[in-house]
Amino acid sequence: NAESLQLRDKDFYEKAGIDVIHDSVYSIHTDKKKVTFSRKKHIDYDKLVIATGGVPRKPPIKGIEAKNVYFLKSAKDQGDIKKAAANVKKGIALVGSGFIGSECAAALKMKYKDQFDVHLVGMESEPLELALGKEVGAMVRSEHEKHGVQVHMNKGVKSIIEGPDGEAVGVKLSGNVTLDVDMVIVGTGSVPCTKFLERTETGIKLDKQGAIVTDPFLQTSHPDIYAAGDVASFPYWYTGQMTRVE
Ligand SMILES: Cc1cc2nc3c(=O)[nH]c(=O)nc-3n(C[C@H](O)[C@H](O)[C@H](O)COP(=O)(O)OP(=O)(O)OC[C@H]3O[C@@H](n4cnc5c(N)ncnc54)[C@H](O)[C@@H]3O)c2cc1C
Repeated sequence: NAESLQLRDKDFYEKAGIDVIHDSVYSIHTDKKKVTFSRKKHIDYDKLVIATGGVPRKPPIKGIEAKNVYFLKSAKDQGDIKKAAANVKKGIALVGSGFIGSECAAALKMKYKDQFDVHLVGMESEPLELALGKEVGAMVRSEHEKHGVQVHMNKGVKSIIEGPDGEAVGVKLSGNVTLDVDMVIVGTGSVPCTKFLERTETGIKLDKQGAIVTDPFLQTSHPDIYAAGDVASFPYWYTGQMTRVE
């Protein structure tokens, strides 16, 4: 369960003098050095670190809102997916062949063996290619196939076919391929959580995807504000290319 995954318990924060506020940040006022919350409180800061991560990207695919289409981010998502997978008869399509798609395919195959089909769909030529390159990706594909995962690479999803009750009953891929499934898990990257920065003039530079642009030390375009984790786009030390972990 989620509690067992906590790195630190409540006592740790109390002993360390860290004030944990369970609330959502509504806006940041860099001129007054204030962070405001949805429940109208605010705190003052001298320096600020933004580490708001991202939420799963929902690609604009027809049928993406169908029942039985899942995204994986939280412990609750994981519980919902487990429950739904237990009722699958025909198969599951994993849309996106990055870490989430690839790991889900392996986990489902290990648990359910040949009870239903497991399809892994990706736009690149190999699974995990964007993160690990073609060569390692080809090894991952071969492992998947050895274990019975049906891998569909160089394929985009055209639409998710909905049944009479709005449930996903199939997935149409490019190249006229249709997968007969009764559950879809989408793992197509994440969108940075930076909406709260758009509510005021912060002077914090965002990239086209809404990620916070930083220098090599994770300092943003505002000298008192830093960004870290999945929300940050930083220059990769080796190439200098701007990089964001998705
Ligand atoms: C299924 C899954 C498996 C993964 N496996 C691995 C793995 O094996 N190895 C690995 O290295 N990485 C893995 N990752 C990625 C890893 O989880 C992320 O890289 C990491 O969690 C990023 O940390 P973060 O603190 O930047 O963002 P997050 O962990 O997303 O935390 C952001 C926090 O900010 C909060 N927040 C957002 N907006 C606001 C707001 N306006 N006000 C207040 N709070 C806000 C969110 O609620 C959240 O609590 C996995 C991710 C997933 C989804």
